[in-house]
Amino acid sequence: MSFFAEQNSAQVTDNYRHKGMRRRLIEQLRRKGIRDEAVLSAMERLPRHFFLDKAFEEQAYEDNPFPIGNEQTISQPYTVAFQTEWLELRPRLKVLEIGTGSGYQAAVLAMMGARVYTVERYEALYVKAQELLHALGLKNVRCYFRDGNKGLPEHAPFDRIIATAGAVEVPEALRQQLAVGGMLVIPVGREVQRMLRVRRVSETEFVQEEQGDFKFVPFLGGTERRG
Ligand code: SAH
Repeated sequence: MSFFAEQNSAQVTDNYRHKGMRRRLIEQLRRKGIRDEAVLSAMERLPRHFFLDKAFEEQAYEDNPFPIGNEQTISQPYTVAFQTEWLELRPRLKVLEIGTGSGYQAAVLAMMGARVYTVERYEALYVKAQELLHALGLKNVRCYFRDGNKGLPEHAPFDRIIATAGAVEVPEALRQQLAVGGMLVIPVGREVQRMLRVRRVSETEFVQEEQGDFKFVPFLGGTERRG
């Protein structure tokens, strides 16, 4: 996998060194308890360094979050793996992501065969991620510049919804845009967030589970334009 970076007219490649660093990262994720082979395989195939600036190739394969501009971060690989595993994905499911950021989580979902719709409130991040996902040839991802509090009503219902920013409560629009039998994975809390999974068991009934504490950037309202 490689792509052509338009900003600096350079070919960005994935070499044996990157693949080696990625294999070690996947081993760490296994040791930390990630079991879903489809998640591990997607993360092993997808070059995470494509989603960070070239200067940070080494950091791309540490199990840490990393700044991507606009005070936002690409989530820690363990967190991406945890949330994706908990989504219980199958190929062809229709998935909405709130918080495109770098586009990495959306690309992991796409590599697993999901039909991905991803929403970002910062125009600059939306533009950059959309270009990158397109350059990578991931045709099953569509990017939107929107306030994720409202979901994406024109494409609802979704089989799965994943939020990658910490919300103070579960936005009602997201619950309502779940298909019956669908699931929403979202971190909820102020300083620290509990990971919640909300399952829509009927038109009117929802079942909620929770598992683990995480620290996300905040789930905000409205959108912000470039410049
Ligand atoms: N999934 C991303 C993680 C980015 S951090 C990745 O893989 O890189 C979370 C992102 O959520 C940030 O880019 C932030 O701007 C975005 N965000 C926060 N509140 C939002 C909202 N209401 N609607 C859409 N995006 C939101």
